Amino acid sequence: MARLTGRKAFVTGGASGIGLATVTRFLAEGADVIMLDRDTESLERESARLDARFDSNCHGVEVDVADIDSVAAGVEKARAMLGRVDILVNSAGVNVFGDPLSLAESDWRRCLAINLEGAWHMIQAVLPDMLERSYGHIVNIASVHGHKIIPGAFPYPVAKHGLIGLTRSLGIEYADRGIRVNSISPGLIRTPAAETWLAQCDEQERQRQVELLPCKRLGEAEEVANTALFLASDEARFINATDILIDGGRSQVYHS
Ligand code: NAD
Repeated sequence: MARLTGRKAFVTGGASGIGLATVTRFLAEGADVIMLDRDTESLERESARLDARFDSNCHGVEVDVADIDSVAAGVEKARAMLGRVDILVNSAGVNVFGDPLSLAESDWRRCLAINLEGAWHMIQAVLPDMLERSYGHIVNIASVHGHKIIPGAFPYPVAKHGLIGLTRSLGIEYADRGIRVNSISPGLIRTPAAETWLAQCDEQERQRQVELLPCKRLGEAEEVANTALFLASDEARFINATDILIDGGRSQVYHS
């Protein structure tokens, strides 16, 4: 029996990278999945491709997670398509890296609005449905930046620390009502966003990024998706309000 047979899942940022790998893994395990993303072109392409590939249903719904009205409308549409929601994975996110003092106010707000408030907007929208049935698994994609500080990456770590705080706080608030909230903190994972950032680095820096990893390779989106699958399944039913680091061990190294 597949691990998510009969489950209904929403995945934000589902049109690319870690979100797309999660959607693919969930479909392979029997879940019906709604991909929520603001990139309509990728949404249409990927949802049509995956819907044709798997027996379970896959649809795309346009949502800007930073906009609470867009989330309300998107979640209503998604719920109408699947009837209910059992699993929410919040993977929508953006890199916002700058100098603290010269950072534009708009970049500070964009960083928090997408990387932190986006997850909260989605959780607010799905929680009533989950609470009514006393069943729901929520997985937030945080980051190693939510645990350790890498200079030059401000204010992204502020948002990711907040996302881990949101995870722990809500996990406890609803623990006795059938809801689990956990997060995953990936290190450097090969996705379109990471490839874009690496492309801006010179060859020496790209090499250094690989050398910094104890396993001497980048992570793969499927490796994060496998952990999202575990946390979103009943196999993980006693795991709540916690975070799993997936960074090849890098964050445990004090000095390289
Ligand atoms: P990605 O750019 O490949 O995918 C992100 C997706 O989110 C895109 O489809 C994008 O359109 C969508 N998105 C962005 N802003 C949105 C918004 N406002 N509303 C709706 N959708 C929006 O990136 P990725 O590398 O797969 O990152 C996924 C998550 O993993 C992010 O939260 C990121 O912070 C986190 N993360 C990534 C890495 C890494 O190395 N790739 C490491 C740690 C954490």
